Amino acid sequence: MKIAVLPGDGIGKEIIAETIRVLGRLGLSFEFEQAPVGGAGYEASGHPLPQATLALAKQADAILFGSVGDPKYDSLESSKRPEQAILGLRKELALFANLRPAQVYEELAAASALRPEVVAGLDILIVRELTGDIYFGQPKGIRRHESGGREGFDTMRYTEAEIRRIARVAFGAARKRGKKVCSVDKANVLETSRLWREIVAEEAKQFGDIELSHMYVDNCAMQLVRNPKQFDVIVTGNMFGDILSDEASMLTGSIGMLPSASLDANNKGLYEPIHGSAPDIAGKGIANPLATILSAALMLRHSLNQGAAAERLDRAVKQTLRDGYRTADIYTAGTRKVSTVEMASAVAERL
Ligand code: NAD
Repeated sequence: MKIAVLPGDGIGKEIIAETIRVLGRLGLSFEFEQAPVGGAGYEASGHPLPQATLALAKQADAILFGSVGDPKYDSLESSKRPEQAILGLRKELALFANLRPAQVYEELAAASALRPEVVAGLDILIVRELTGDIYFGQPKGIRRHESGGREGFDTMRYTEAEIRRIARVAFGAARKRGKKVCSVDKANVLETSRLWREIVAEEAKQFGDIELSHMYVDNCAMQLVRNPKQFDVIVTGNMFGDILSDEASMLTGSIGMLPSASLDANNKGLYEPIHGSAPDIAGKGIANPLATILSAALMLRHSLNQGAAAERLDRAVKQTLRDGYRTADIYTAGTRKVSTVEMASAVAERL
């Protein structure tokens, strides 16, 4: 199993080093190869996604990504900014399916902005289409309008094939979880959504064991706050998913805990925490490594076919939290405050 390791900038380097150490405890044979990306890529070769880094990502079975970005690159032209590396990787590797689990561990329920009883035990997965929709649809632009002023316009579009493949990812993921999929659209207003709903329902026939429901996006935004535990897997388009996945992540109250996966048609994927490079705490040894460790668990499950190892890693994280270990971002009175390295060591010991 060849893994391209792209630590990136800021806390990315710290959390990736610890995640690799934890993976080493699983007793599997990984081949790790590291390359610079983001600001580190720019420093190494003048581009946030150096050719050699992209080539490595292409040959690997999976990509483990830290985080990119640093205020010192804010004045660079946009194509050279560290964040471009992620967009470049998504495009070059055709990573069309973004998986964002939002899980609330019983021990951390008090960290949510919602009441603990609303979120305790929450475990949902948002499957967001990542390469289509109004963000990429043509035509788009700003043009002169006959009324005299200008108008801005974008085009929302999805092909049947694009809808089918993301629906399949969602149904497949649901099969490994609670066996329920809620497809989110705006079919009462948008033609694109009408086609979306029709194709998702058609695709569902191949997955007789999965219960499919449909929900309008405005209602979903409300239900996520009112009763988030009703959901298992949510599947939706690029723009709705962009917004809903950020909303869902805040249900958990701790950005340092949330992993993500971006997959291609063959389940090859890029795995990364949802947080950024946290320049405010970089180098202090206090970053929470769990989002990255949980991203590695997703990698084992979705790209490397190592479901049992993923399960072990998830359980070790749960046990670490149960035993009271907390990095500063999730610390509450009565628990034990630990560094990045100590947190990873606690997980490794429990493995
Ligand atoms: P951020 O996610 O880096 O940080 C937001 C806040 O959360 C900060 O206070 C930070 O200290 C804290 N935080 C984040 N991760 C943490 C962790 N693992 N443990 C403890 N605390 C953690 O977002 P930002 O400050 O808006 O952005 C910083 C840089 O990261 C920017 O350059 C931005 O563009 C970039 N960014 C990159 C990615 C990515 O690599 N995928 C995602 C988001 C932002």
